[in-house]
Amino acid sequence: MTLPSTYADRNCSVARALEIVGERWTLLIIRDAFFGVRRFGDFANQLKIPRAVLTNRLKFLVKEGVLIRDDDATGGVEYRLTAKGVALWPVVRALMNWGDAFYSPSGVKRAERHDQDGGLLDHDGRCEDCGLVVPVPEIRIEPGPGFDLTDSDHDPVSGAINTPHRLLEPIMRPRTLSAAEGELSATRAAERAHR
Ligand SMILES: [Zn+2]
Repeated sequence: MTLPSTYADRNCSVARALEIVGERWTLLIIRDAFFGVRRFGDFANQLKIPRAVLTNRLKFLVKEGVLIRDDDATGGVEYRLTAKGVALWPVVRALMNWGDAFYSPSGVKRAERHDQDGGLLDHDGRCEDCGLVVPVPEIRIEPGPGFDLTDSDHDPVSGAINTPHRLLEPIMRPRTLSAAEGELSATRAAERAHR
């Protein structure tokens, strides 16, 4: 559902940007792409989003040049952020910081570090150790003090996302995931059998 475009919005870049990223799920898809999710099935598992909705969102983001759809090394399809997409990191970071400040009393849920020297990043993305404004591919993301493991999903995709790693770095080898997905469907089949 796109936000209605009004006359007043035509001169507002916030409204224009929200026409691209303001739909339900879209920013979460983009967040996961930063965290290294690339495959349709991984987005679907991680976000618990209806597949038809995910298809629409991905198509739209590709059309808008935020994501690129590409063949991966194994003949599958993957979605990666373009430069235009990567330029959204400050938006995701600002939302993260805002959420931490007002809704995470025990501290930040995820911390950003400069991968090279381990320095923490401030709200503007500047490394507190070396003073550099750290480019996105050199940012390491890791669970912070406010991150509650017991509240987190324990599927392989979430596990990989929650392991400290650099942004945009793909989270997982396809074979590992297929095995994991196999396990998951086996578990589901077992659950059905028990009902
Ligand atoms: Zn640094």
